[in-house]
Amino acid sequence: MNHIYLDYAASSLKHFDIYKEVISELEQSYANPSSSHSLGKLNNKKLIKAKEYIAKTINAQKENIIFTSGGTEANNMVFNHILNTYNKGEIIISNIEHSSVKECAEKLKKLGFKIIELDVDKNGKISIADLKEKINKNTILISIMLANNETGIIQPIEEISKIIDKNNILLHSDIVQAYCKINIDVKKLNLDFASVSAHKIGATNNFGFLYTKNTNITPLIIGGGQENGLRSGTSDIFSTLILKKAIDKTSNSINQTLKTKHYLITQLKKYKIDFEINGDINNSLPNIINLYFKNIQAQRLITFLDINNIYISGGAACSSGNILGSKIIKNMYDEHRAEHSVRISIGFDTTYDKIDLVVKKIYELDSRIKERGN
Ligand code: PLP
Repeated sequence: MNHIYLDYAASSLKHFDIYKEVISELEQSYANPSSSHSLGKLNNKKLIKAKEYIAKTINAQKENIIFTSGGTEANNMVFNHILNTYNKGEIIISNIEHSSVKECAEKLKKLGFKIIELDVDKNGKISIADLKEKINKNTILISIMLANNETGIIQPIEEISKIIDKNNILLHSDIVQAYCKINIDVKKLNLDFASVSAHKIGATNNFGFLYTKNTNITPLIIGGGQENGLRSGTSDIFSTLILKKAIDKTSNSINQTLKTKHYLITQLKKYKIDFEINGDINNSLPNIINLYFKNIQAQRLITFLDINNIYISGGAACSSGNILGSKIIKNMYDEHRAEHSVRISIGFDTTYDKIDLVVKKIYELDSRIKERGN
């Protein structure tokens, strides 16, 4: 296909070679892993082995992993657990959380919980001092993402875990964007919950997992009792095996991804395009960069690149149709900057040649605007 895909943070290009491998493997053993016959048992063994492998990627045990329909469901499980465990209390989130956290918090607010939103600074980070001020004896949950989906900025989760009383406050992190992009150790971060999505690393959509330190979490979906009774529904052996294989593929490509991101910056500078990086580049994921182009409106750039078969985004996929610009960049800077900022997210198929083409196109539009004034 003759296009350049730079929207990996919305959904990674699939590792189609893995899909083919897993399809041929499952053609030999297609049974429901819960079935008691030999074929079912065989798949159950495969499922358990894969889960052990997946758990290790965040320094957890298989018992702490609950497969879900993705990051959204994993986030919902955490807030549902809170709703079932407490009848009141205070929850602290940041104002850059994904909508699946924000909406859950909003729901609990309507049911009487107090929700406190932390701002981020120009570097895209929350302030520990600010958090310290907001914590009190009523705080029951802190839910802060490990890395943001629009800027890639990494939040100080380990520092958070060190300043809170872990006996009384639960700590959740949406690690959807960070997973397999940076090292994650749930024990070091002292997390109670962490949410992961498979399609962000080239595995299937509608699949992922929740890490839970204690397995007494309230199930969100009940029924046949799969996932040790914590999440019912026939086990998805196909997605599980793909996720297992996609982990290595993504992790192995991440050094190159980081080099490619730096190459993009070098090329933009070489062409003397007026741009700035949103947030602190030295504290960001290797695959995401958010750029402010002083002369070019984000929507215009997105459309121009789209016509040239280059796909980038204005922000989160759910809100990229929003021509007013990203709310996150507005929170970090101002409205003007938000209207002139785009997210470029790269991955395993992003070559230097592709970056060269993209930069040339941006240069073309930037020069045209500079010459003609629009
Ligand atoms: N959290 C973050 C930070 C995300 O970027 C996304 C996906 O856009 C999600 C949660 C939701 O994950 P899923 O698409 O697997 O439901």
